Amino acid sequence: MYISEFGEQWHRARAEPSVVHLDSAAASRSSTAVIDAVTAHLRSESDRGAYVVAEEAAAGLDGTRRDIAAMLGPDMDDPVFIESAQAALAALLSRWGLPSTTTVWVTPNEYGPNLAQFAHLGFTVRAMPTTDGYGRVDTAALDELLRSEKPDLIHICHLGSHGGIVQPAAEIVELAHRTGVPVVIDAAQALGHIDCVTGADVVYGTSRKWIAGPRGVGFVASRTGFTHRVEADSSEAFIAGRVGLGVAVSELHAFGVERVHRELATIGAFTRARLADVPGWTVVEPVEEPSAIVTLAPPPGYGPSDVLTARETLRVNGILTTCADSWRAPMMAERTVLRLSPHLDIRGEHIDRLAGELARMQG
Ligand SMILES: *Cc1c(COP(=O)(O)O)cnc(C)c1O
Repeated sequence: MYISEFGEQWHRARAEPSVVHLDSAAASRSSTAVIDAVTAHLRSESDRGAYVVAEEAAAGLDGTRRDIAAMLGPDMDDPVFIESAQAALAALLSRWGLPSTTTVWVTPNEYGPNLAQFAHLGFTVRAMPTTDGYGRVDTAALDELLRSEKPDLIHICHLGSHGGIVQPAAEIVELAHRTGVPVVIDAAQALGHIDCVTGADVVYGTSRKWIAGPRGVGFVASRTGFTHRVEADSSEAFIAGRVGLGVAVSELHAFGVERVHRELATIGAFTRARLADVPGWTVVEPVEEPSAIVTLAPPPGYGPSDVLTARETLRVNGILTTCADSWRAPMMAERTVLRLSPHLDIRGEHIDRLAGELARMQG
């Protein structure tokens, strides 16, 4: 039984997987149409010349940019393409040329490699206030704080890599803009998954996660009028991948972006509720958190290597998950968790199988 009304359609658009794939936060399964578009482009590169067919693809890719911008809100200009989310942040920071005295406030779930980029530039980094124990920013406390102090920049990890908590990005942007602080959003786990219309100055992300496009393609978009924008696509690039991303984005729009968000939220809640009584393991997020990233904290006494072993045991038994170590959210993650990130084709029996395997490991 599919949990989502889109399950059957999402499943049929793809090759039959040999695993229960619960790893969209790493990379989703691309549709057959996406893969066909990539391979067709590669064939025509070989047939007629890579630069000739790149020019022919340009108009279509402009359409893809518009489709992505439409998911980011009315004030956003069309994004430029870049290899990855990490490359997007690096390009932005390089373009911006902020001094090493820069202070950046981040969400507590900030992605470790982003923190490393800030540290490399000598920035002072501070986590915004949170009250609920989940690392969710407390906007009332932030409002209060912004009355006495002001960072040079706020960076929001809208949805992190180590847990399914959705940050109140639009509210944070509103508060920041009230005091003239620019806001940049890491939407690597957010785009195609949750509402990304926030009013932020810059939003960047990647193709392969919830949009289910190819690997090696990312994007960075800026608000109209924002001065430190990344202006041009990375020049030597996986054009076939961009073409494939275009197909994936079109497929998402055909389902209806908001309906996909709703379905993924339902899937997350269903999965958490179903796993609530697995012996030993504890669901980290509130059941109703509106995302399809679900993490399980291990039984007492489990170290990081035990979670990795559990992940491996699941994998050899045909269930693909991630062992999410603390580097993914070093400001708040004191433990390694098992991360599940199902897409629209998950079925109730998949979760039952997972629950069964976890229970069996506990003996
Ligand atoms: C995956 C991820 C990134 C990095 O994306 P790349 O495309 O691999 O550079 C950044 N932030 C978050 C929250 C992620 O999950």
